[in-house]
Amino acid sequence: DRARRHADAAALNGSGPMQRETIYALGTPAPSRSVPGAVSVIRISGPRAADALVFLTERKAFERGRSARDPALPAPRRMTVRTVIDPVSGDAIDQGLVVWFEAPNTETGETMAELHLHGGRAVANGALAALAKLEFCRIAEPGEFTRRAFENNKLGLTEAEAIADLVAAETDQQRRLALQQMKGALHRLYEDWRTMGLRALAHLEAAIDFPDEDLPAGVDAEVTREITQLRDEIAAHLGDRRGERLRDGLHIAIIGPPNAGKSSLLNLLAQRDAAIVSDIAGTTRDVIEVHLDLGGWPVVLADTAGLRASSDAIEQEGVRRARARADEADLRLLVLDATSDWQADRAMLTRQTARWDAEYDIVVVNKTDLRAAEAEGIVRLSATSGAGLPELLARLEGSAAALMAEGGAPPLTRARHREALLDAHAALGRALAAPEVALAAEDLRLAMRALGRITGTVRIDELLDVIFRDFCIGK
Ligand code: GDP
Repeated sequence: DRARRHADAAALNGSGPMQRETIYALGTPAPSRSVPGAVSVIRISGPRAADALVFLTERKAFERGRSARDPALPAPRRMTVRTVIDPVSGDAIDQGLVVWFEAPNTETGETMAELHLHGGRAVANGALAALAKLEFCRIAEPGEFTRRAFENNKLGLTEAEAIADLVAAETDQQRRLALQQMKGALHRLYEDWRTMGLRALAHLEAAIDFPDEDLPAGVDAEVTREITQLRDEIAAHLGDRRGERLRDGLHIAIIGPPNAGKSSLLNLLAQRDAAIVSDIAGTTRDVIEVHLDLGGWPVVLADTAGLRASSDAIEQEGVRRARARADEADLRLLVLDATSDWQADRAMLTRQTARWDAEYDIVVVNKTDLRAAEAEGIVRLSATSGAGLPELLARLEGSAAALMAEGGAPPLTRARHREALLDAHAALGRALAAPEVALAAEDLRLAMRALGRITGTVRIDELLDVIFRDFCIGK
């Protein structure tokens, strides 16, 4: 709907994407009474951004109706001290730094201006109200600056998404992944695949246009090899969960018999204030989650109900969920009680946990303040005294790094990309099985469309609306 209104407006004005409304927004967080902020930055983008700057800094300019290239306009790209005024009354709002950038070498591809003002609500609101008085300006919608950058070919969709990820990054490693994607690593991978596919498609189309009666009707061996290679590369990429784990946090399930000290361990970890990214969340009867930053790796730790045989229906349900949770998790932390027959519990529980992985999953023997425990590969802990915690954290960090560290190719990061890649993969499989060249070509075309949807080479307005809606205003 919004996209249609944009299109209608553009059609009425007889203007393309470069000639449209000038937008503005506060780029820094909205100042509140408790957190006024030191500086507020207001960003303006559009064909009349420089005019807006003149009207907000030059007394009488608005009355005169003079516009850009006014002598009052500072040289582009030079921060200049100016008194920012109300364009109608001429009253001073603040004194600050202003700067403007000439199109097209700007972030959005349009002329842009910025006002760097003192923080605080009255200043920001005063400057925004002043801009609202300019009839050629309007407040930006969420993500509109980035959307304009995309529409002016300043960046692709995966780069735009990376900007949102960078802003949302809570740990060092998440920030690194977002930055890599912002620089186009993922875009290049998907576009390389599209180029490969389009080359194969060109061969198929040539075979359709110039059929060689002597050849069999199917796809020739060379093209089959190309499509197979493409499909296999996409399959390998789909099988790689590092990026999604890094973006969403590595899910770790704490499992073990009742009273082994699972909750105590979770609380112990949660009390280390420095390690906590967000508060304890998602408390249900049987699962409590804590978000941790383990040496830059984001981790979501979940405490599950004790795993043991039970006749109580509710507890059975809790145990069933704990099992499911343990198997869905990326990593399992098995907590055992040193004062009980923990060797037997260990053997039973690792056997019952379908996805137990001896390489990464961790066995913790707790309550070693009460009784010593000896065995290969275990972490000895006392959740009450904290003894053994540094060793446990080191083990957790090692497993987290191994499960999220980057390898050669940039990892898949989003469900949106995964869905499109699954479509592409399925279409490539159909192309390989197609009985006729024309059918194979059609499936190959569908696969290329799916890849183009990820990078934005193939543009779908509803999709763009969904992506940019998630941005904050001013981005
Ligand atoms: P959960 O059922 O596995 O979540 O176990 P809890 O964390 O609730 O702990 C069960 C009981 O063991 C509580 O009374 C704890 O205080 C106690 N406990 C937990 N960890 C330790 C420990 O390392 N040493 C000692 N002595 N007691 C512990």
